[in-house]
Amino acid sequence: MVENEIFFEISSMIKEHPGSYEVKKRAAGYVAGLYPVGRIEETILTNTTMLPFNKEREDFVLFDSGYHSEEDVLVIEMQFKDCGKIISHVYPTMAAKKFTEEQKNDLRVLGALFQFYVGHNKIMTSLEMATTNNHMTGLPNPKGYIIRCMEMAKKGDIKQYDSCYFNIKGFGLANNMFGPVEGDNIIKRYAKDLSEFIEEDEVVGHLGGDNFVALIKRSRMDDFIDFILNYTGYGLKNEKRKEIKFGASIGIAPLNIETSRPMDIISEAALAFGYARATKQEIVVLDENLTGKLYKKKVIEETFETALEDGEFVPFYQPKVDIRTGSIVGAEALARWVKPDYVIKPAEFIPVLEENGNITILDFYIFEEVCKDIAKWVKQGNKPVPVSVNFSRKHLDDDNLADRINQIISRYDVARDKVVVEITETADYDEKELMTNFLDKMQIYDIKTSIDDFGSGYSSLGVLRDFSVNEIKIDRSFVDREEFSNRDRVIVGSIVNMAKDLGLSVITEGIETDVQLDFLRSLDCYFVQGFYFDKPLPKKKFEERLLNGGYKIKN
Ligand code: C2E
Ligand code: MG
Ligand code: MG
Repeated sequence: MVENEIFFEISSMIKEHPGSYEVKKRAAGYVAGLYPVGRIEETILTNTTMLPFNKEREDFVLFDSGYHSEEDVLVIEMQFKDCGKIISHVYPTMAAKKFTEEQKNDLRVLGALFQFYVGHNKIMTSLEMATTNNHMTGLPNPKGYIIRCMEMAKKGDIKQYDSCYFNIKGFGLANNMFGPVEGDNIIKRYAKDLSEFIEEDEVVGHLGGDNFVALIKRSRMDDFIDFILNYTGYGLKNEKRKEIKFGASIGIAPLNIETSRPMDIISEAALAFGYARATKQEIVVLDENLTGKLYKKKVIEETFETALEDGEFVPFYQPKVDIRTGSIVGAEALARWVKPDYVIKPAEFIPVLEENGNITILDFYIFEEVCKDIAKWVKQGNKPVPVSVNFSRKHLDDDNLADRINQIISRYDVARDKVVVEITETADYDEKELMTNFLDKMQIYDIKTSIDDFGSGYSSLGVLRDFSVNEIKIDRSFVDREEFSNRDRVIVGSIVNMAKDLGLSVITEGIETDVQLDFLRSLDCYFVQGFYFDKPLPKKKFEERLLNGGYKIKN
């Protein structure tokens, strides 16, 4: 019978760190001091379907006196359901040669106790591995990666590290070439090579697919970049091995942040990576300038909806003027994001909203605000001028675009000659049909349309031929100069004449100087919009302009 004291001694020895080789050796040594044991071996068999990178069989010698007999080996086994098995081999000393039955019983009990702790620990680590590691490559998954990084942050100076987010360039191609099964093998080999490249105090993680993250010492970053940019892997097809060169897109964020926000370790590098992809650069390092830019974008994306609800988006109105009389013949509504102490211009937020698709929400919002204003001006007895509103080409996918515009006009009871829908010219052939359908519908609803930035694309003549529009707005680039050549005169003159012959109105935008005004006048192009008369004005200012009746024209 094993004395209680021994039982507790072994159990307290091992239960704290049952995975540690040193601890297991100490416990084995303790047992060998009590019984005639010459050698103890331990074999752990793990079910590898749970963990691809885990070793299938691990063998340890826990105790060795140097003199043991192999005549009477005691084998103790414990099976852990589907997870694996532990086998211990206990050899008697050379002097004893055999264990007595009583000694065998004791050793079996102590062995079972020992194996219980070791096996239980093994299962727990396996489970933990399964939730913190990518199941295909065995590298830490995002959760595991962050845990590892946080451990390192606690231990050492994380500011000496760069965080890196990268993906394998050319993997999609390889996957097509070798098929998905070999594709997985390529990724596994890549992951293995990566884990061999990094040092013990560095971390590499697998986010899934061909996306990886790594925490690399700054002093080794150049080598690491060199490694992933010039990586050569291979694929097997019909048992033939074919080498493939892979590149990478890499985003790097120096970790000078305090690590109280662990997600930053991935997200900062991910920002740089996203930027690298968007701008087709191989490597982007996050610096203050870029952080500012990306931060702005993030803030715009994140605050857009609340800002819209809070009424921070408003239309400003830029008058359109007849240069023969100085009278205001229309206006363009241009979106502004008004903050308590500053105004954000479209150049900052329109591209972000175009990218995430929210531009369609903004356009309808501005359109509705404009309709409300027109309805109000009519009610007050003012004679409103037609107002153009910009609609992004992102709307063209929406089959109901024209219907929705029509519904809003009807809802506010706005006269159909008081609104114009501006949409920029497209050089994209696929969009042509969508654009034609939309413009045709607008004609049926009797809503005026205008082609914005006319001449900036390459399809301008096609626009005149194919699209049923009411107006073209000649792009600023045609008049943006201090003097005009005969060539300018011929080009702009032809556009104006052709449009007029087709029954379209023509307006020119971006007029700032007398020279430009005279040039247009000489071409009989009389409608303009530009800083020469006014910048886009807040509603109140614009209402004053309307009441004053327009501008004085120099002769
Ligand atoms: P756009 O529709 O071509 O509008 C004309 C732009 O030229 C406006 O810029 C206007 O302020 C500017 N502009 C007018 N006259 C002059 C001038 O004499 N000189 C110079 N240098 N510029 C002049 P803004 O308001 O910054 O808008 C820029 C662009 O943003 C617009 O170009 C339009 O494409 C887009 N945008 C503005 N509001 C909206 C909106 O509500 N929806 C959509 N989808 N786009 C909008
Ligand atoms: Mg416009
Ligand atoms: Mg324009």
